[in-house]
Amino acid sequence: MLYDNENIFAKILRNEIPYKCVYEDNYALAFEDINPQAPNHILVIPKGKYISFDDFTNLASDMEITGFFRAVGTTARKLKIDKQGYRVLSNIGKHGGQEVPHFHIHLFGGKRLGPMIVSE
Ligand code: 5GP
Repeated sequence: MLYDNENIFAKILRNEIPYKCVYEDNYALAFEDINPQAPNHILVIPKGKYISFDDFTNLASDMEITGFFRAVGTTARKLKIDKQGYRVLSNIGKHGGQEVPHFHIHLFGGKRLGPMIVSE
């Protein structure tokens, strides 16, 4: 599978569509999810063109991986949800329910989040 340059997060990285920035550095951009599932629901994406967590951990450099995951922690501390706790999640591919094919971490917080996976 090739990276799709027209996916919605690629457009956000190119500033082609509006978004509410929470944190940005050389490795990552964090912004509010358009359809929040918790009081704090932030998406953190790497600056590089990676399709999924699998793609990122396979192909990104050590610097990109370190920089990105540091940015996730920094974002949580900036939101002041680190003391009460929060959840990070990444959907990968079809079984994971990934909708946008640019690697992203969901960061949820601001309330007790309940069970991790809804039983069917
Ligand atoms: P996935 O299912 O791929 O893990 O999550 C994609 C997330 O992107 C969803 O939570 C969805 O609400 C969010 N999303 C989709 N389109 C946009 C958009 O245009 N702007 C923002 N800020 N979030 C989006």
